[in-house]
Amino acid sequence: MVKLHDKFFKPFISAEEIDRAMTRMASEIAKDIGDEIPVFVGILNGSFMVVSDFVKKYQKPCEVTFIKLASYEGVKSTEDIQRLIGLTQDLSGRTVVILEDIIDTGNTLAEVHRIFKNENVKSLKIATLFYKPEAYKKDFKLHYVGIEIPNKFIVGYGLDYDGLGRNLPEIYQIKQTQYMTNLVLFGPPGAGKGTQA
Ligand code: 5GP
Ligand code: MG
Ligand code: MG
Repeated sequence: MVKLHDKFFKPFISAEEIDRAMTRMASEIAKDIGDEIPVFVGILNGSFMVVSDFVKKYQKPCEVTFIKLASYEGVKSTEDIQRLIGLTQDLSGRTVVILEDIIDTGNTLAEVHRIFKNENVKSLKIATLFYKPEAYKKDFKLHYVGIEIPNKFIVGYGLDYDGLGRNLPEIYQIKQTQYMTNLVLFGPPGAGKGTQA
């Protein structure tokens, strides 16, 4: 168990399982891309560890760059995506693969598509290590997905809770208190005891 700020997190996905998913994604992408020299674009901050480990597994020539977007406050995704660092090079005609740590609502991905809309890239593929299908509310195709996870907040392997936890080599899931579990299962205290309309 790990404590970050006010919350507790329990072990969820091991470093070995992450490594296997990353190896699989890297070989799928290498196979699909063939002889092109791709540009891998990481979305900072969360994806720094994914990008670093991914490109070591991608054993062919490639370029690596980053953009920096921010959407999360605490444990909640917001629609208000801030562009902190945009694209700094011309990618027209290039084969681009976005490398994401996690896709949740898809709001960040929508911003990525807005950024690339006028770039005239040859192709744009989306790869993400983690994906929360229950939370995703967009239609953009996800070309490569490492591990699907339930709609619960996780930390580790680049992912933070208010700045902490990025350096954990494995993934931890937020631990619900008994009170939160009871709320989900039984509703707020007193629910079901009142008069029915
Ligand atoms: P989206 O815009 O798809 O809702 O969320 C994308 C970004 O929110 C991710 O790149 C990541 O930075 C952050 N995020 C989404 N889900 C989680 C989560 O479970 N844990 C953490 N630490 N960050 C998350
Ligand atoms: Mg991210
Ligand atoms: Mg974050």
